[in-house]
Formats: sequence, structure tokens, C-alpha cells
Amino acid sequence: MSWNKIENEEIPNWVKQAIEDMPKGRTAGTPEFEEILHGDTFVYKVVMNENNEYLKHSVYKQLKSDYFDTNPQEGTCPNCQKYVKRYKDDNYLTCHRCGWQYKPLTERIKNLF
Ligand SMILES: [Zn+2]
Repeated sequence: MSWNKIENEEIPNWVKQAIEDMPKGRTAGTPEFEEILHGDTFVYKVVMNENNEYLKHSVYKQLKSDYFDTNPQEGTCPNCQKYVKRYKDDNYLTCHRCGWQYKPLTERIKNLF
């Protein structure tokens, strides 16, 4: 449930590109702003700081399923962002749009063996 700061070499190229593309004049009057970027598995938070015209950024990431606060009964699909609710027949919370399933941690561990 928390953001982890990541170093430059961990930042995916598409996130770096998005940072490049952010309008530079945007911080006028607001010395700091945040931008949330959605990847396939992780959500990235870019925090921009304006410091004497020098724009600095920090990047944080967290698992999409944590970001969207998905629980075993309902939540937001971390894959396609559809709101999902568990139906009677579902063994797990299942997104009926893309097929993503929320599995309890014990199930996820079991699948490794
Ligand atoms: Zn989905």
C-alpha cells in the first residue's frame, strides 16, 4: 500500500519518455506537482520539483492491485481498470473483461510448486 522510490535505472523507458513529454511550463506558480502513470503491472508516480528553473523529478512505483485497493470480494481490475465484483460462481474475484483474477497469497504461493 505504499510507494517505493525507484532509481533511474529502474525507470522504464516509456515512463522516462512521458517525463520528457511533460509540459515544462506547468510548474509555474506550483513548485511541485505529481503525475500518475499506469503501466501493465505497476503504477508510477512522478513528482516534479521546480528548483531555480531546474526541474527535478522523483519516481515511485507500487503494484497496481495495491494502488486500486483490490480485495478478494471486489475492487478495480489492475489490468484494465474495470470495476470488478465477485460473482457467486467465481472461485476468485475475476475480471470478466480481461480474465484477470485476484488470488489470495496462499494460492499464489501454491502455484509456484
Ligand atoms: Zn480486467
